[in-house]
Amino acid sequence: MGTIIDVKEIVKNKKEELKVRIEKLRQNQVIPKLAVILASNDSASRVYVGNKRKLCQELNVLEEEYILDENVTNEDLISLISRLNEDKSVDGILVQLPLYPHLDESRILNTIIPSKDVDGFHPYNLGKLVIGEDTIVSCTPKGVMTILDSLGMDLAGKNAVVIGRSRIVGKPMAQLLLARNATVTVCHSKTKNLEEYTKKADILVVAIGKPHFIHQAMVKEGACVIDVGINRVDGKLKGDVDTQDVLEKVKYITSVPGGVGLTTVVSLIENLVEIAEKRI
Ligand code: NAD
Repeated sequence: MGTIIDVKEIVKNKKEELKVRIEKLRQNQVIPKLAVILASNDSASRVYVGNKRKLCQELNVLEEEYILDENVTNEDLISLISRLNEDKSVDGILVQLPLYPHLDESRILNTIIPSKDVDGFHPYNLGKLVIGEDTIVSCTPKGVMTILDSLGMDLAGKNAVVIGRSRIVGKPMAQLLLARNATVTVCHSKTKNLEEYTKKADILVVAIGKPHFIHQAMVKEGACVIDVGINRVDGKLKGDVDTQDVLEKVKYITSVPGGVGLTTVVSLIENLVEIAEKRI
């Protein structure tokens, strides 16, 4: 029987570490500030922005929100971001996705100056990740690494399989695992015989967006399974992995809710603190 990873405990420890770093910044007259831009009517996005606001308050960092109505243009957003790029009191700029459909996501994200790209989505930061340089890393994969590190697992030589190749999860996740010398395979919607890969995975990271897609027959005995998926089914949150089904075969697994989602938001503040620390 496997163990459901206690992500709450991991997050608690990470918050304690961040509190110390934030206090040290304050002693140096630096108060980290996050600027959040919300340009959509998406209800989940509002919840996510609310979660970020609460954590900023809890950790004593500044947060300001720009809630824009659907008349906002690409030019409006670009001029707002340009202003925040110049503002020395702002450390991190976050554009909550998805945007209103008429907005040009790529153009808008690329306007954020890489040094304030707290989400790590800018091509410059993604490029640095690929060449193995220290950079701002996308929050969800960064949080997954925090979880894996808390297990004290040596990733070198392990078979790591990432399902999903998005810019915000799958691709940076694969790079982070590669940087730790895992042997990494990326699977996606066009992968044939997915099970052949998943059954060989010592570490399986699933970021597909399909409820309970991964079941027992697809995983390796003793594997560590990280479920990134968040799916709303009949008002409840479900992961991409059928946790109860898989639990008896694997060594470790994260749950949904109570898993990766908790580390994502803490990783955001960790990125903000890392950026602010460059001010001193
Ligand atoms: P996405 O839609 O951009 O990407 C999904 C990926 O899954 C694609 O690369 C696609 O190729 C792959 N895929 C789809 N069907 C597949 C199949 N049948 N077999 C193999 N691969 C398949 O999604 P995303 O933004 O990467 O998010 C993935 C999931 O993770 C979603 O459920 C999302 O809500 C969740 N998510 C969670 C967090 C968190 O903090 N926990 C953060 C971001 C995303």
